[in-house]
Amino acid sequence: MSTLQLTTEVQFVKGVGPRRSALLGARGIHTVGDLLYHIPKNYQDRSKFQPLSALRAGQDAAVHARVYRTRVIDTRSRGRMFDVVLTDGTGFVHAKWFHGERIQQNRRFSAGRGVVLYGRVDFDAYDSRLVFFNPEFELLDGDDSAVRSLDLGRIVPVYEEIGGLTSRQLRRIVSAALDGLSPVDDALPESIREAHGFPDLKTALERIHFPSSEDDLEALNARRSPYHRRLIFEEFFLLELLLALRRKQLRVVTGVRFETSDRIREQVKRILPFHPTSAQKRVLKEIVDDLRASFPMNRLLQGDVGSGKTIVALEAVVIAVENGCQAAIMAPTEILAEQHYLSAKRILGPLGYTMGVARSGVKKAERQDLLTHIASGGVQIVIGTHALIEEGVAFKNLGLVVIDEQHRFGVVQRSRLMAKGEQPNTLVMTATPIPRTLAMAIYGDLDLSVIDEMPPGRSPIRTIHAVDREVERVYRMIRDELNKGRQCYVVYPVIEESEKLDLRSATEGFAKLSEAFPDRRVALLHGRLKSADKDVIMRSFAAGEIDILASTTVIEVGVDVANATIMVIEHAERFGLAQLHQLRGRVGRGGHSSTCVLMTPARLNDSARQRIQAMTSTTDGFRLAETDLRLRGPGEMAGTRQSGIPEFRVANLVEDAPLLAIAQQEAQKWVEREGEYQRLIEAMSSRLRGVGPAGLVAVG
Ligand code: ADP
Ligand code: MG
Repeated sequence: MSTLQLTTEVQFVKGVGPRRSALLGARGIHTVGDLLYHIPKNYQDRSKFQPLSALRAGQDAAVHARVYRTRVIDTRSRGRMFDVVLTDGTGFVHAKWFHGERIQQNRRFSAGRGVVLYGRVDFDAYDSRLVFFNPEFELLDGDDSAVRSLDLGRIVPVYEEIGGLTSRQLRRIVSAALDGLSPVDDALPESIREAHGFPDLKTALERIHFPSSEDDLEALNARRSPYHRRLIFEEFFLLELLLALRRKQLRVVTGVRFETSDRIREQVKRILPFHPTSAQKRVLKEIVDDLRASFPMNRLLQGDVGSGKTIVALEAVVIAVENGCQAAIMAPTEILAEQHYLSAKRILGPLGYTMGVARSGVKKAERQDLLTHIASGGVQIVIGTHALIEEGVAFKNLGLVVIDEQHRFGVVQRSRLMAKGEQPNTLVMTATPIPRTLAMAIYGDLDLSVIDEMPPGRSPIRTIHAVDREVERVYRMIRDELNKGRQCYVVYPVIEESEKLDLRSATEGFAKLSEAFPDRRVALLHGRLKSADKDVIMRSFAAGEIDILASTTVIEVGVDVANATIMVIEHAERFGLAQLHQLRGRVGRGGHSSTCVLMTPARLNDSARQRIQAMTSTTDGFRLAETDLRLRGPGEMAGTRQSGIPEFRVANLVEDAPLLAIAQQEAQKWVEREGEYQRLIEAMSSRLRGVGPAGLVAVG
């Protein structure tokens, strides 16, 4: 009886019922489609059973045998163990479990009962016999041959348990769902299926759960079977279609179009304090091409910490201003905004532009004054934090928007600043290196430029892990640097729940440092200081009047003091990888060799250990980003949460990157076909969470 649709509620699947549907529902499986897109975690080849007499140590084998006898053994080192002897008439083999739950079940292993076992055959040195240690197994009921065919004599899917439903139970439910499924409408265009050898949807769903005996086991387990590829592709294709569509829409509108006359080129050259790297030149050319085009620029500039994005942005600013437009630079923190302001003043000084910085906490009159000048066009360049997107801020003629450290802002904030001009050119900069695949997925509506080269003369940063009791050693390292005339950062973590606690750890740290370095100038910087005070501290640090700057993570981004050559990060285990990398980027900015010390308690959990290990083994931001992505998954990566990456059901941005690239190309072609994509998007939109017929929900 084929009556089920992908959208049918899962409780109508044979064998589900209200109780199980509640269990499934609690895990996000509400419909038949949800169930079928819950794909096996791996597959076992149980198509051929090995006779017990033919087993060899070291192989993976499926056996079909009967229980001969069982016993529970108390072992000295591993506690209680459940030992089953099995026979199939050709020989005997042991299966041993070290886990209590199995021992509880021992009554179910009654002599003579059929068992299918799957696992690695080992040689038990203790007994000098072959044994399966903790194998996967299923007890058979013997009589039900129809049921048996799901678990035996084939490539068998293995599922993650959902809400207490075992792999075996899920196999039955999924099989019933597939049996009851009416023909499904395949939204993926046939031309694409043909071009890439993708099976149709129904076949893909059937075979991903119950492969046929001809299917390649290895490919299935590597998620590279045609069925996997098809389902993964489908998710990527939809996402890329939506992004391509947005990009296309952005491209048809006409924006501010700049010229770059010889005179303007001269001005741009005038501001350069150094020879740009070839990466900077290439990226600037990409930006200039956009600025001269009739559509507004929407470009993501990616470059590791310290790669020199600022100067590139300022070059774009010069072009905007020379074309009679205003430019706005938005940064995530006051300190960073302030830094941008200072460097813009320094670098653009010779050109005599008018500039303003929008600070919070300034007197009303002062603020009003700035607003008036922004509105009249009297200020050509405006730099600030979120303060820039507040309602009262209106520009006369905003032609260029630069957003620094995009990962700190949501997409909504980006759009809000853009809305202050008429289709202004937009340059989004990020130093959180995101693997290219992820960048494509998140920022697929932006064109991507990458600065993949560091300015010359950087010396490498040595990164060291020290446990808390080694504090004296760490102090010695600090002292050595200070004696060479260098400066030091000591960073304390942000404790999210409490700004107060946060402050306390920094304040206490500051007190300790002051005590340990009585002859040095130690200062404390934290988010609660008034802007003016922060400013004074940062300036004195930059001027070399402070030796040790104890700080919360307010210094995370952008701060640029070349003489600071050592950074100590306390409680480094509390920081994410991206943040550690950002912080570390504050040192190693001059010609002197630099050190970053990650301090942690002696005991660390696995993921903290992996983060520290990653940090001490590389300074390459892109490699760290890949690690981060692997450790945390894309949704959790810095700032991607609000960026609107939908949740994939099958696809994985790390593992399936090659298919993402194909999906992007196909989507690009498809959006050129007027009208057809809308239907496609509607048909496919239920495939991704976070996506509705209207497009990416979270993306502004
Ligand atoms: P980020 O990409 O992290 O924003 P910045 O733009 O702050 O990096 O640049 C880091 C430092 O490198 C700054 O001190 C800047 O003046 C310097 N810098 C940038 N480009 C070059 C270059 N081509 N040659 C020498 N120094 C450079
Ligand atoms: Mg920067």
